[in-house]
Amino acid sequence: MRRPDARPKASHFIDGAHVEDDRGAPIDVIYPATGETVAKVHAATPEIVNRALESADRARKDWAGLTGTERGRVLRRAADIMRERNLELSGIETIDTGKPLSETLVADATSAADALEYFGGLGGSLTGEHVQLGSDFVYTVREPLGLCVGIGAWNYPTQIAAWKGAPALACGNTMVFKPSETTPLSALKVAEILTEAGAPPGVYNVIQGAGDVGAALVSDPRVAKVSLTGSVPTGRKVYAAAAEGIRNVTMELGGKSPLLIFDDADVEDAVGGAILGNFYSSGQVCSNGTRVFVQKGVKERFLDRLSARLGNAALGDPLDEATTFGPMVSERQLRIVEDYIAKGIAEGARLVAGGERLPRDGFWMPPTVFADVTDGMTIAREEIFGPVLSVLDFDDEDEAVSRANDTPFGLSAGVFTRDLARGHRVIGRLEAGSCWINTYNLSPVEAPFGGSKMSGVGRENSKAAVDHYSQLKSVYVGMGPVEAPF
Ligand code: NAD
Repeated sequence: MRRPDARPKASHFIDGAHVEDDRGAPIDVIYPATGETVAKVHAATPEIVNRALESADRARKDWAGLTGTERGRVLRRAADIMRERNLELSGIETIDTGKPLSETLVADATSAADALEYFGGLGGSLTGEHVQLGSDFVYTVREPLGLCVGIGAWNYPTQIAAWKGAPALACGNTMVFKPSETTPLSALKVAEILTEAGAPPGVYNVIQGAGDVGAALVSDPRVAKVSLTGSVPTGRKVYAAAAEGIRNVTMELGGKSPLLIFDDADVEDAVGGAILGNFYSSGQVCSNGTRVFVQKGVKERFLDRLSARLGNAALGDPLDEATTFGPMVSERQLRIVEDYIAKGIAEGARLVAGGERLPRDGFWMPPTVFADVTDGMTIAREEIFGPVLSVLDFDDEDEAVSRANDTPFGLSAGVFTRDLARGHRVIGRLEAGSCWINTYNLSPVEAPFGGSKMSGVGRENSKAAVDHYSQLKSVYVGMGPVEAPF
């Protein structure tokens, strides 16, 4: 693909229209493959923040007043438009994030469309229930929460905008979404498409900015719910700010997830799982299985096959569909990863692949593998969020499970074994929200996604998300005489 012109029509999308306010701080959009600035947007000023919230607040009543089927129809139309424009949207996502087109074509606008289609389809069947109590009865009404704020990370900008927007809108809420300042482009496209599909003005708004804009949204009294995808430190701040106003939250935070590979695993599949769980999107995936526990009997074969297959990674122009591994999102993120690699070496881990920034423009770190990693090393304890895989050895199941759980995070976990009883037993004991047996990192919209422990609160996707974007009103209906004590 030739490099697309990714410049947006304006920085924000409010009340059904593009809005510019160049008094806001400029934000450069940098193409990670070359380091060039390819577009510019402006952060929201307090007036823009207020305009977006006002618009979403105003739109609430009418949107909630539609039937679920009517709302769902808008979402399903948006899904169709998104699929028709997949190539264009994928090009923009590649420019914004650096992720190769071979990935963005299948994982970004497509997964956003899946969410719009799924929650669009669910719209008409969101109901309360009836509870008979003798002749009296209770019925519950599933009501929207109100104005929801979505705040995104930079690794899956289109997907995050839709994973939050689709269930919110299906349940009758409106949304103000703030993408990460590192990747401001794609959420604007989601807003445009929803509007084209028939979402009334104000139902889905996008404003730009860094943490201060996010913080202004989170503490606004008009806001009923905040859904954040980001790091644990940001999650702590956002959760605390939301608590001030007793707001609902969904927190999709970081992880340091374990992937357990037993001696009886299919080694080729296990290597494939480790590659998917460490190097897709250049390792910038929250659910990655970055602590790869390999049972001692299979360790050397695992490392041999991993090294051989890493030789097939194609690091090149992300817009060339033959490229399978792209740059990191930013200079800043690359430096963070370089620091972790230096710590890994200093603390005695054995570097077996990668580890050095590529001498070319842009932010390139090749797939990096450490062996002989031990539990106390910094690279085994902290989220790196880059293409760094750590191999840790283990002897037996109990030991592997207890070491795998020895982390404050609890986002994901995986196990590779041909013994399915063991697979289920081990997964049952691992403390994580999103788990895989004999595969890794597949997150279809039909499955709940989210973390336990410090990795988050709430679930995205699946029917479970409905509970996080709606509330039940309970109505007791008395059918007989009222019995009062006096
Ligand atoms: P980040 O925490 O730096 O920023 C996330 C978002 O929060 C950004 O939009 C940022 O502007 C905003 N923000 C920062 N401070 C804020 C504040 N005080 N109030 C309100 N908003 C604020 O995260 P990042 O670097 O963009 O993304 C990487 C992190 O996200 C990693 O930790 C990764 O694991 C996590 N992540 C989690 C998931 C998940 O679903 N669990 C998915 C993707 C990424």
